[in-house]
Amino acid sequence: MKHLFQNNEQWVAAKLAKDPDFFAKTARDQLPQYLWVGCSDSRVPANEIVGLEPGELFVHRNVANLFPHTDFNCLSVLEFAVDILKIEHVIVCGHYDCGGVKAAMEEHQLGLVDNWLRNIRDIYAMNREELEGIANLKKRYNRLVELNVLHQVKNICHTTIAQGAWYRKQPLTVHGWVYALDTGKLKDLKCKVSCIEEVDSIYRIQPS
Ligand code: ZN
Repeated sequence: MKHLFQNNEQWVAAKLAKDPDFFAKTARDQLPQYLWVGCSDSRVPANEIVGLEPGELFVHRNVANLFPHTDFNCLSVLEFAVDILKIEHVIVCGHYDCGGVKAAMEEHQLGLVDNWLRNIRDIYAMNREELEGIANLKKRYNRLVELNVLHQVKNICHTTIAQGAWYRKQPLTVHGWVYALDTGKLKDLKCKVSCIEEVDSIYRIQPS
């Protein structure tokens, strides 16, 4: 593991060469403007893709960038981001060729993760007609990547946390993007939600 510490020494030196106060400043506080909900995949490093420095991006990553509405890890991150850090933009970023999404289209068991990926099987079932109308399996699976992002954007919008912000007129926009591993480029799925009126009425929960 020595090389990781050597890398760290070099990274610290490079940061300090550019800005001698860099660590003193970042240690003082964090003022990120964005929350990133992404996949754990090592090829999708959140900060690097969008060119942001430490302190600029609040990050939550899990297998296949899910935001299940009962997951306390996801909910705690979102609450801290919105209520404490006053983050104005939440980005759900999936990626094409996501192993988690692919596994959710296959029949063999992998282990505990299958229960986590069950969420994606539900999305497949809800969109079966569209998906099975795509004959090319790779294209079908990449469409499921997009549908998964769209679904997680909705899950975030259905939380009491996002809605609490909208009801008290705190600015908050939830975005859905997909990253392409083979080009490094981001695609905006243009599904952003910025107010309670854009949420299906059955999911609206007004604070008392
Ligand atoms: Zn992935």
